[in-house]
Amino acid sequence: MLPVITLIGRPNVGKSTLFNRLTRTRDALVADFPGLTRDRQYGVGQIGPKPYVIVDTGGIGTAPEGVEALMERQVLRAIDEADHLLFMVDARDGCSPEDIEISQRLRRLGKPITLVVNKSDSTDPTFATADFHRLGLGDPWPVSSTQGNGVRELIDRVFEQLPEAEGSIDGEDTQEGIRVAVVGRPNAGKSTLINRLLGEERLVTFDLPGTTRDSIFIPFERLGRHYTLIDTAGLRRRARVHEAIEKFSVIKTLQAIAAANVIILVIDAHQGIGEQDATLAGHIIESGRALVVAINKWDGLDTDQREQVKSQFQRKLAFLDFAKLHLISALHGSGVGLLLDEVEHAYANATRDLGTPVLTRLLEAAVQEHQPPIVHGRRIKLRYAHQGGRNPPIIVIHGNQTEAVPETYRRYLINRFRKELKLLGTPLRLEFKTGN
Ligand code: GDP
Ligand code: GDP
Repeated sequence: MLPVITLIGRPNVGKSTLFNRLTRTRDALVADFPGLTRDRQYGVGQIGPKPYVIVDTGGIGTAPEGVEALMERQVLRAIDEADHLLFMVDARDGCSPEDIEISQRLRRLGKPITLVVNKSDSTDPTFATADFHRLGLGDPWPVSSTQGNGVRELIDRVFEQLPEAEGSIDGEDTQEGIRVAVVGRPNAGKSTLINRLLGEERLVTFDLPGTTRDSIFIPFERLGRHYTLIDTAGLRRRARVHEAIEKFSVIKTLQAIAAANVIILVIDAHQGIGEQDATLAGHIIESGRALVVAINKWDGLDTDQREQVKSQFQRKLAFLDFAKLHLISALHGSGVGLLLDEVEHAYANATRDLGTPVLTRLLEAAVQEHQPPIVHGRRIKLRYAHQGGRNPPIIVIHGNQTEAVPETYRRYLINRFRKELKLLGTPLRLEFKTGN
C-alpha cells in the first residue's frame, strides 16, 4: 500500500503549493482529459523512486468552536490515517504562538513527524530554521515549495523513516491474476457487488486485515482464471452497517486504485452522478489504470430515469468516454456476470503489445490526413512511434519540435490511435521526444 504523507499547518504557510509540487508527476496523465478537475485535498505523486499518497488538511485552526472545530475533527481523522506528518511553518513569519500550540498537540500524538520550514527562499536557510528548534520536533527542514529547493530531499528523508513496505505490488500475470479494485462512493453498492461476484464464483481463501485502514485482498477464480478483488468497502462492515459513511476513506480508495490493474467504478443510478463520483473518476484517470464503469441499481428505474442517468453520465463524466458503461443490479445479479468479461477486455487492451511498425504506420496515416502545425517557420515533424509502457499503454512519438505539439493535435492523435487500435477500457498516454 502506498504510504500516506499528510500536510499540517496554519493557513498560508504553503501547504497547497507543496501539495501541487508533490503531485505534479501526474500532470502528464491529466493533460489528455479536458474537463477533469483535480482533487485538491488528496493526491498521489512520485518524486523519488517510490509513489506516495499526499493529503492536504487545509488550514488547521486553533479555536475550539464553530467551523474550526469541525475542521479539527477532519484533521484528526487525516492524522489518524497518516504514516508521516509534515508540519509546515513559514520562514518569513518566524515561530508564531499558533505554531507552538499546534506542535504541542502534534507531539502528544506520537506520530512520525518532520518539521518543514517553507519559504526558505526568502531568507538564509540557516537563519530561517533557527527560530523553530524550540518547537521540539527535531531538526527543522528548510524547503521552498515555489522553487522546489529541499523538496526531493524531504521526501527521501520521509521514506527513510517509513517502515519497509511489505511485499511488492508490481508485476502483472502472477498467480493472483488480474487485480480488480471495486471503488465508489458510500452506498453505491460495492459490498453487494463483491458478495454477488464471490457468491457466484469460487472463493479461494482470504484473511481479514489487522487494521481498519487496509483494504481487503480477496483472491478468487472464475472459469479457470485467477483474480484478486480489492475491497475498499469491507465485507467486514456488514457487522456494523451504521458505520458505513465513516468507513468510506479516500485514502483507502487511492491505495486500492494504485494496487489494481483494473478499476470497477460503481455508480449509484438512484443517486445520479455526484461530485464524489467525478472526484473518484479523476483519481482513476490520474492513476492510468484500466476502467470499467458499473452503473448499479438499474432495477426499479423506468425508461425515462434510465435515459436520464445515461445522459448525465455522458455530460458530467465525458472524460471517461474510453470506458465501457455497464448497467447492472448488484442486488438482483443482472449484468454482473458480464462485468468480469469487461474487466478481462479492459485488462487485455491495457496490457496489449503494440508493435513499432503498426504504431508508425498509424502515425504516418494520421499525419498525412492532418498535418501538425508550422512553428517558428518550420512544420513539426513526427517520424515514428513505439510503445513505452503498459497499463496504461504509452505511445512514444519521435520527431522534431515535438515540445511545440499543441494540445488539440495531441488529442487528435490520441483519438486516432484509440480508434484504430480499438483501445477501449484504458486511458492511453502519448509522450513526445525530439530527436532519435
Ligand atoms: P496554504 O494556505 O498553506 O495552502 O498556503 P498556499 O500554498 O496557498 O500559499 C500561501 C502563499 O504563500 C501563496 O501566495 C504562495 O505563493 C506563497 N508560497 C508558498 N510557498 C512558498 C515558498 O516556498 N516561497 C515563497 N516565497 N512563497 C511561497
Ligand atoms: P457500499 O457502501 O458501496 O458497499 O454499498 P452497499 O453494498 O452496502 O449497498 C448500499 C445499499 O444499496 C444497500 O442497502 C444495498 O442493499 C443497496 N443496493 C446495492 N445494490 C443494489 C441494486 O442493484 N439495486 C438496489 N435497488 N439496491 C442496491
